[in-house]
Amino acid sequence: MKAVFEIGRLVREDLKDMEPYDAYYAPGVVRMDGNENPYDFPGEVTEYMENEISRQFFSRYPDPMARELVRELSSYLGVSPDCIMVGNGSDELILNIMLAFGSGGRKVVIASPTFSMYGIHARVAGAKPVLVDRGPDFEVDVRAMIGAADDEPGVIILCNPNNPSGNTTSLDDVEAIAGAVSSLVVVDEAYIEFGGDTCLSLIGRYPNLVVMRTFSKAYSLAGLRVGYLAASPGVVSELLRIKQPFNVNSFSQLAARSVLKFRHLFRERIKMIVADRDILAERMKLIPGIKVYPSVANFILFEAGEDAAGVHRLLKERGVVIRFLSMPGRGDFLRVSVGTTAENEVFLKNLAAIMADRSKFYNDAGNITEMEK
Ligand SMILES: *Cc1c(COP(=O)(O)O)cnc(C)c1O
Repeated sequence: MKAVFEIGRLVREDLKDMEPYDAYYAPGVVRMDGNENPYDFPGEVTEYMENEISRQFFSRYPDPMARELVRELSSYLGVSPDCIMVGNGSDELILNIMLAFGSGGRKVVIASPTFSMYGIHARVAGAKPVLVDRGPDFEVDVRAMIGAADDEPGVIILCNPNNPSGNTTSLDDVEAIAGAVSSLVVVDEAYIEFGGDTCLSLIGRYPNLVVMRTFSKAYSLAGLRVGYLAASPGVVSELLRIKQPFNVNSFSQLAARSVLKFRHLFRERIKMIVADRDILAERMKLIPGIKVYPSVANFILFEAGEDAAGVHRLLKERGVVIRFLSMPGRGDFLRVSVGTTAENEVFLKNLAAIMADRSKFYNDAGNITEMEK
C-alpha cells in the first residue's frame, strides 16, 4: 500500500499556532512602520563600494568569519576581535543565541512588551519564553527579572532603548541583573545610535553579558542584513560553533565595512532624525486625543483614544503606514518611525485631520460619546 504523506503528522506540535512573519509591504506610500533610516543611501558610499567589488567577489564564498569587518568593528567599538561576531541581521544572532543557550526547554526571560522576535526565536529553538511585564512607563522591573531567572540558568533579554516604547534602561539596572544571575544577559542595542547609554564598557566585567547591535537602523542597511554582537570570548566561540558558515554574504560584508568607513555621513543623518523626533513628539502632543510616550530612539509610541486600530486604518487609507500594536493588559497603541522632515509633516497633517474628525464623536478622554452610541 502506498504510504500517505500527511504533513500534519510531521510538523512540530509546539509550533503549530505560529504565523509566518509578513510585514506590510507596499511601495509608493509613506512608510513609517519599520524604524528604518528614511534618507537615501549616500552616493559616496555606493561609489566606494563599486570600486571595491572585484571579479572573485561573486564566484567565491564569502569569508565565513568576516575577518575584515570584525577587525573594523573592533576598532570602532574598542573591543578585541575575539569578542565580536557578525550575523545575517541581528535576527540571526538572536536565533543563534537561543539555539546555543536556550534550547531544551530552558527559560528565556524577556522584559515585555518588547520586540516580538525574541519570543518567536525562543520558541523555534525549543526554549520557553517567560514574559516579565515592564512597569507602567515600560521601565524594566529589575527584581522581577532576577526573580524569574534565579532557579535555572538560561537567557535574559533586555532591549535598550526598548522597541516599541522608546525608553532606556540604566547601566546600573543592567549591572544589577547581570551581576545577580548565572544566565546569559543579552542587551539589544538596535537603536543605541539614536540615544541611551551603551553597555559595551561592561562586557569586560560581566562574562555573561552580550551586547547586540545592527546596521539596519541608524546605518541604513536593513536590506542587506548585517548585525553584530560583542561578548566575552567564551560566549562568542560557543556561538561561532553553531552559526551557518556563510551567514553574511560578501556584498553585505563590504557594505557594512563601507558604512563604517563613511560613518561621519550617517552621523549627520542621525542628528537630523533625533532633532526631528523631538519636534515630531512635541507636535503630536498638541493633537487632542494623542498621548505620546517619551522616546530616545527613532520612533515614537503613542495612544490615540479608544480606537487605535481605526486611526491606523484611516492613516493607511491616506497613504501613511505606521505600526499598530495591541498589548495584552495595556490596550492598543500606535508606533510611528521618524521619517524625513517632509514625511513627518505628511503624517502630522493626516493624524491631526483624523483626530479632529473623530473629536466630533469622541469626548476629551477619547471615549465614544452618547451621540455616536
Ligand atoms: C529592527 C530590530 C532588530 C532587527 O535587526 P536586524 O539586524 O535587521 O535583524 C533587532 N532588534 C530590535 C529591537 C529591532 O527593533
